Parts: sequence; structure tokens; C-alpha cells
Amino acid sequence: MFKASIVRYLEASGHSHINLKAVLFDMDGVLFNSMPYHSEAWHTVMKRHGLDLSREEAYLHEGRTGAATINIVYQRQYGQDATPELIERIYAEKSAEFNKFPQPEPMPGAWEVLQKIKSEGITPILVTGSGQHSLLDRLAHHFPGMFDKGHMVTAFDVKYGKPNPEPYLMGLEKAGVKADEALVVENAPIGVQAGVAAGIFTIAANTGPLDGQVLLDAGANLLFPSMQAFCDNWEELRTALDETSLP
Ligand code: CA
Repeated sequence: MFKASIVRYLEASGHSHINLKAVLFDMDGVLFNSMPYHSEAWHTVMKRHGLDLSREEAYLHEGRTGAATINIVYQRQYGQDATPELIERIYAEKSAEFNKFPQPEPMPGAWEVLQKIKSEGITPILVTGSGQHSLLDRLAHHFPGMFDKGHMVTAFDVKYGKPNPEPYLMGLEKAGVKADEALVVENAPIGVQAGVAAGIFTIAANTGPLDGQVLLDAGANLLFPSMQAFCDNWEELRTALDETSLP
């Protein structure tokens, strides 16, 4: 099953083999179970400003920068761009709202698979659209030794953000690897699009309420129903990657 997915990726990308050196991890909904809080915070703050964004729709925008999400909703409603001041204000309020929730728990399976990856000499890289200091600080606490500053791409680094391939291309650069030497692990359609657009084999872990088909439609090369399932299948996937080449 994995081999067929790898062959399809190789044929489409023109690479002959994935020589795995780095795994690029998204953060919200992949490393932390934080999306229920984000969607609630988005909904609450947008409503406060007279803007319509349902909790469900928040999941579809997941992965965008806060500024992009605010502007899309504002544009839809008023037919013009939100001012930088308004964007800054809404994003600050959204962060404050998010921080009222309890600390999000690490996603089951995330630490375990990170340890497997690191122990094989593969470099884990964080690639997130988040500029949430609280979560970025908690990375060091829950995933000690996994992501130092040199191995992170955050909202502070990028210009365009997902679904543009830019964040994942920057991730490759930080890891010092090429597209056929990495994997992307994502949970959101927009994040999957970014990984695919960067030419990287993109794994979707469906940790939220969306139908898994949405992630496959976004271009995911492989779909797991959870991070734990990705973790449990790591060895088999690794073997399939090693053994699959095009002539
Ligand atoms: Ca995510």
C-alpha cells in the first residue's frame, strides 16, 4: 500500500527515490491537539468584530497565517482589504482568546514518532504558520531537544505562508536537504497543498473533524486517521521508502 503511493509520487515528481534525511512537521493539529481551541477562538473574535467565520470553516483555513485568514473573511464581507491595524488588533484578540483555554496537549503518537525519527539520524523540522508564542515556547517543554531555532519555520519567517510552498521550501533549506530527501506531515488541506506544491512527499494525519477525502483531494500522498497511526506505521513506511525506486 505504501509502495504504490510512493511510486505514484515518484512518477509525478520526476524523482527516482526518496532518500530520507528530514521530516517537516506542521504544529497545530499535528504536534499539539490545539485546533479545537483555535477554531473556537477564531469564531468568537470574528463574531465580536461582526465578521462571520464558523468553527467548521476555521478548520478549512487552518495553516494560513492569521493575517491571511482575517483578510479573506473581511474581503468576503466588505469587498475590500482589512487595514493592517485591524488585522493586528483581531489577531492579538484571537491570541488572547486562545490563551484563555487550558494548555493544549501534545497529540498522541507525536513524541513517540519524533523519537523514532531522531534515533534514525533523520532531522525533524517544524514548519508552522503560527505566531503563537505560548505554543512555540511549549515546544521545548513537550518535545525537548527536537526543534532548536535553526530547525523552525514560523509565521515570523515567511512572507506568503501556506498554501504557498514557501514555508516548506524554507524548511528544506533549514534542513539542508532537497525535496526528494524529505517528508511533510500535515493535518490541514491548505498545509497539504503547501507540501505538495513544494514537491515533497506529503503525509496527512487526519486529526480533526474534516472528511479524510478533503486531504486526499488537496493532494496528500498518504492519509492516516491519526498521528498515532502514522507513528505505528513508521517502520513499515520507512522500509517501503528504502525499497522503492524508479529505474
Ligand atoms: Ca495544522
